[in-house]
Amino acid sequence: MREIIRLTPVFKEMVWGGNKLREHFGYPIPGDDTGEAWVVSAHQEGDCLIAEGTFAGKTLSWLWDNHRELFGNAKGKEFPLLVKFIDAREDLSIQVHPDDAYAQVHENGARGKTECWYILDCEENSDIIVGHKAGTKEEMKQMIDEGRWEDFLQVRPIHPGDFFQIPPGTVHAIRKGTLLIEIQQNSAITYRLYDYGRMPGGKPRELHIRQGLDVVECPHRETGVRRQVFHEESYDRTFLVSCPFYTVEKYDIRGSFVLPQDQPFMIVNVIDGEGYIDGMPAKKGDCMILPCGYKEARIEGNISIVTAHI
Ligand code: ZN
Repeated sequence: MREIIRLTPVFKEMVWGGNKLREHFGYPIPGDDTGEAWVVSAHQEGDCLIAEGTFAGKTLSWLWDNHRELFGNAKGKEFPLLVKFIDAREDLSIQVHPDDAYAQVHENGARGKTECWYILDCEENSDIIVGHKAGTKEEMKQMIDEGRWEDFLQVRPIHPGDFFQIPPGTVHAIRKGTLLIEIQQNSAITYRLYDYGRMPGGKPRELHIRQGLDVVECPHRETGVRRQVFHEESYDRTFLVSCPFYTVEKYDIRGSFVLPQDQPFMIVNVIDGEGYIDGMPAKKGDCMILPCGYKEARIEGNISIVTAHI
């Protein structure tokens, strides 16, 4: 098929959300506490509608179930990936995700979650939490019991363009003032370790300390992300990560570029600028899927995209 599958985002209001998804992308967000735009999602809690073309008005999960050939007949009950833009006006809770094996046993056969973040924008002196400083599980449990979060958490400064891969078992949290794109396994299983004592709606959100202690990698193991940049005359290609669940790259295009599409399917997220994708106008915030057999897409303009495929 030579038809691009354009998707309509699903917005999520969150205690920590803001209004940058409107300011930055021009999205019609529902309120000034919008934390997430699920831009490529077939998850039941936010199934994207197809915006135009042959399948206009259908959901991505419907397309996955009924036209698997568009996805190279990829295996799996559910569409495997989930892409979000996230605007954190406040800190997100400190959390950790299980791997597939743990989720299979303890979460009714659900999937675990590996995720990654590319920082689009952040305030000066912003930071993020990736990892922890406990040497053993006992030490970790003690630090949590005693609320010694500053001793426990590994805080890292961030700048636009930074990239983080978050394998299962990694303690992590996005912090205030950060706008990013997140690509992850299609899963919603999160074990919350700490929520800063917040009481949204008058009561605290549930914590999952026991499961968290089960799944946290201890001591923390650094994920060596080896970013590679290839400079060409009309574009820069940045290889960000390849893991068993996804491969993520970024392209900064100045003029004209041909993106090969020989994967089962290719997710394309426009993160900056504007231009044309095979003659179709595309601007910051537009997200789409190039189906199986699409072969190649000519991208023109001053435009940056983040791509993801399985
Ligand atoms: Zn997470």
